[in-house]
Amino acid sequence: FTSNLSLSLPVFYGHILVTICCYHHILSKRCYSILKSSDVLITYYTQIQAVTTTMARQIRVVVIFIYLAIFFKVSLARTYSRASIQQEVTNYCLSWRLAVEANNVRAWRTVPMRCLRYVETYMMGGQYEKDLELIMDQVLSYANSIDVAKDGMDAWILDIDDTCISNVLYYKEKRYGCDPFDVAGFKSWATKGQCPAIRPVLRLFNKLINGGFKVILLTGRDNETLGQCTINNVQSQGFVGYERLVMRTAAYKGQSAATYKSEIRRQLVEEGYRIWGNVGDQWSDLQGDFPGNRTFKLPNPMYFVP
Ligand SMILES: [Mg+2]
Repeated sequence: FTSNLSLSLPVFYGHILVTICCYHHILSKRCYSILKSSDVLITYYTQIQAVTTTMARQIRVVVIFIYLAIFFKVSLARTYSRASIQQEVTNYCLSWRLAVEANNVRAWRTVPMRCLRYVETYMMGGQYEKDLELIMDQVLSYANSIDVAKDGMDAWILDIDDTCISNVLYYKEKRYGCDPFDVAGFKSWATKGQCPAIRPVLRLFNKLINGGFKVILLTGRDNETLGQCTINNVQSQGFVGYERLVMRTAAYKGQSAATYKSEIRRQLVEEGYRIWGNVGDQWSDLQGDFPGNRTFKLPNPMYFVP
């Protein structure tokens, strides 16, 4: 800006004076009174003010840039850290579900609280159905390889709860198994007889029957209290034409599912049935005596039945 001024002696002195004034409180009254005495100095002072204002603006812009840079860096770091924690939880829940389905984790009572969203997403987000479809393809591939005899003794066993019909709507209210099993609550739900069919299993059921198999529905539900509503439920959902629906009678009360179901299968085999396949969502449906020629475990990360 000095190039705008003529380099005369007064200007030079003015330059010095203004510099001193600036050094000692540029806006002080004394400084202003000195400046006021000279038009050249006033111009000079005004130019200094203009330059100062421009510099202040530039500094402000730089400060804003620095602030924004720091802000975005911190925000990105936080987002990354949140995503990283979420990924860790998902990884843990994946491992947990695999361990549960493989029966490496046993006698568990509740889903880990941190896996609530994971199990919800798995059950409701479409992956559960996809897994079922893949299993059904395997079941059918196996079933189609069997030469069904004409004696009507080629049998197939299907569990009921979360095999033929779904309790996911009930478990939704129980935080997908994060809450402990509620005997009265489940009984009240089952009594309504409103469990929807699990569509891939219903398709399998019909194909097995059309293929000449005798399908036996075997459940640990109590015959006395849940007998009629269970029959109504499965039939209203399309499971018709089964050979037998076996429920737990007083004689088997208190027995584990594995023991009780083994005993029923033993009786079926003694009657002459050939159990080619056995499908259930619990390991206790498939373990024990006479499990069947092949067993198929359906996914269920919501609860464990011994
Ligand atoms: Mg079941």
